[in-house]
Amino acid sequence: MSFSNLGLSDKVLAAVAASGYTTPTPIQEQAIPHVLARRDVLGIAQTGTGKTAAFVLPMLTMLEKGRARARMPRTLILEPTRELAAQVKEQFDKYGAGQKLTVALLIGGVSFGDQDVKLTRGVDVLIATPGRLLDHTERGGLLLTGVELLVIDEADRMLDMGFIPDIERVCKLVPFTRQTLFFTATMPPEIRRITETFLHNPEKIEVSKPASTAVTVTQSQVPCGREPHEKRETLRRLIRAATDLKNAIIFCNRKREVALLAKSLQKHGFSVGALHGDMDQSARTAALDQFRKGELPILVASDVAARGLDIPEVSHVFNFDVPHHPDDYVHRVGRTGRAGRLGTAISIVAPSDQKSIAAIEKLIGKEIPHADAGPAGDAEEETERPARSSRRPSESRSRAPRGEDGPREAREPRRPRRGEPRKAPEPSEARETVEVQEPRREPREPRKPRREPRPASVPAPAAHASFGSAPPSRERESASEPADHSHLPAFLLRPVRARG
Ligand code: AMP
Repeated sequence: MSFSNLGLSDKVLAAVAASGYTTPTPIQEQAIPHVLARRDVLGIAQTGTGKTAAFVLPMLTMLEKGRARARMPRTLILEPTRELAAQVKEQFDKYGAGQKLTVALLIGGVSFGDQDVKLTRGVDVLIATPGRLLDHTERGGLLLTGVELLVIDEADRMLDMGFIPDIERVCKLVPFTRQTLFFTATMPPEIRRITETFLHNPEKIEVSKPASTAVTVTQSQVPCGREPHEKRETLRRLIRAATDLKNAIIFCNRKREVALLAKSLQKHGFSVGALHGDMDQSARTAALDQFRKGELPILVASDVAARGLDIPEVSHVFNFDVPHHPDDYVHRVGRTGRAGRLGTAISIVAPSDQKSIAAIEKLIGKEIPHADAGPAGDAEEETERPARSSRRPSESRSRAPRGEDGPREAREPRRPRRGEPRKAPEPSEARETVEVQEPRREPREPRKPRREPRPASVPAPAAHASFGSAPPSRERESASEPADHSHLPAFLLRPVRARG
């Protein structure tokens, strides 16, 4: 099957050829003809299957005829996160380069005014996160009555993030006669209900078994103590021992932990960026760009920020925290081993994570093999411990909304109940909130340097002498040793940029 058999316009076919793709992926092959025939489509597909082009290409073909009117977009695409929205826009820019279409992004963290100006001029394709979209409609700056085609992407993620009420509201604001394309990786009952309510006799296309991990990814779990500093130490050992590591995403369950861990790794001389939902948009985009270009080989991220990101070559995924929801594990691991490449996914497992690991193994239908963290590195060298975090038991049990813009009703400030701290956590943080103590600097006993033989596979302390930042104490002692860098992952040898 080739793209030319799918009914796409000549302009779109030329753009696809220019991009180097010769064969449609299964979701493209099956969905595109139905989209062009104006049918509703229910696509059960994960990211990495080419599902974005499965709606972008026919939309570009269909939009060649007609013109946009002020404040009345012709098509609307809903995405759960800003990054995914931006990624979809990139695909319109890539495949639609030969067309004069206006594509606008309505996402949080960007000025309302600029977005409003764009809407006034009229847009052919509006790509939005639900919260910001509804803010614009409420202000009267946007009318959805001209929408001919609605795409709801990553619907199960929208459910996780508490966006379903917003989605229902949007579906009621667009004309009943519009065409709807609905994509989800899984079909929990709530998603099924939405599809039954808002899709009209959809063509159902399922391209991969939901909740499976790619066979090209080597998965393992490494046991670790319950203390945060033990997890950080285990992680550093794992990174140093991974001689085939080209780049890595390290996942944390909470935004606060992302920032703390990134800082801790930087202190230990690693070149690290951070990505979480509380960062402003420009910082998120910059971190992602640096990671994509290889300038920052390690990215510490939360699920919200990293879900569905298209970063084709990620060699390693580390679960610094085991995710509480098994489907998050599948998505995290799916960041590596993309498009048939080899990948490694390692989960650091504290005693309290046993239940979560069991749920993950049940979902993926196989046991995750046990491994150890590799030789001890700098166990006692953490000169400054990032703030300790603790979670109230009720928080760890509840599955709270975790949208980065937050579901709309949850975004309203709530008056504290008796006994609660005066400032309630931001709803967008509900799942990611921790109580953070200031780091305590305790006086330390001067320690004798340990003289342990270091296996050749582990980067010697001398490796850290090549980083710009001050190495931890023992490493400083060893800096005079001759450095043999030949067996080190390249990223360990890159200079680290000092951060204010
Ligand atoms: P998606 O599932 O939309 O996130 O796409 C995953 C990756 O597949 C992206 O890097 C796309 O550029 C790539 N891709 C999309 N369509 C094709 C195709 N027909 N052949 C090869 N790669 C593709």
